[in-house]
Amino acid sequence: MEVLKSVSEMMKRAQALRAAGKRIALVPTMGALHDGHLRLMMTARQHADVVIASIFVNPAQFGPNEDFERYPRDLARDTNLAEHAKVDFVFAPEAKDMYPAGFQASVSVPYLSDKLEGKSRPGHFRGVCTVVLKLFNICQPQTAVFGWKDAQQFIILSQMVKDLNLPIKMVAIPTVRESDGLAMSSRNVYLTPEQRQSATCLARALKRVHFYVKQQHILHCGELTTAIRSTITSTPGAELDYAVIVSRSHFEPLDYIQRGNTLVALAVKFGKVRLIDNTRL
Ligand code: AMP
Repeated sequence: MEVLKSVSEMMKRAQALRAAGKRIALVPTMGALHDGHLRLMMTARQHADVVIASIFVNPAQFGPNEDFERYPRDLARDTNLAEHAKVDFVFAPEAKDMYPAGFQASVSVPYLSDKLEGKSRPGHFRGVCTVVLKLFNICQPQTAVFGWKDAQQFIILSQMVKDLNLPIKMVAIPTVRESDGLAMSSRNVYLTPEQRQSATCLARALKRVHFYVKQQHILHCGELTTAIRSTITSTPGAELDYAVIVSRSHFEPLDYIQRGNTLVALAVKFGKVRLIDNTRL
């Protein structure tokens, strides 16, 4: 495995690989790798001859009062894990190489980006779309692999790929969870032991929705949202940011569950730590 830090070097290598007829899969990450990321890398392997994992804490997707400065960074540990996951290249650029002085462009998918996470984190998805498009141009993948953990991100990026005619296959894998249901996240390391215990409330709330829909045939989204809220608000230290049941295609609120087109999404704060989770119905 090779670790490349220079944008121009990564571009040269990717272009040479494409010229040699190799299929490239890209896994964009912000590092602090966990088993969810490693699962993406293994999935990428199934789609390509060459797997590139990018590790870049993208300043453009963090708001002014968010955790950019303290986001966990450990490139030595990450490259070791990536190597075990049979990645061929780790691309870990510097911010000044990705956004040199005078950088101006941005890409956005406005309608889908203003809802859910976008409402709580204005500008977040513009930063995500811009960096991912840059990574696509630099790494030249035919396939890009993401997690459903960030469902809105995947749906927005898929729209960007469609709208801009990018010749890239978008693949998403299911959320990888700890044994107690907590979705794996690089931000879980911020949690105190008490918060870590409480943090299972996101997965418990989503499980409860599945139970109500499947066992009790409750399809009314108002009732289901109330159940989610009560699970979160009865958990010590948990502060609900949002819990919504929306269409997967447009993130529009639903009155009743639409089978195959429903996304249940929530964001919960534990002190300064903000966690998200979702499920599809
Ligand atoms: P991040 O490093 O948090 O920006 O995430 C990089 C990629 O890993 C994104 O496509 C995420 O959706 C995906 N990801 C993060 N956590 C998980 C998880 N628990 N299960 C599956 N994919 C995940």
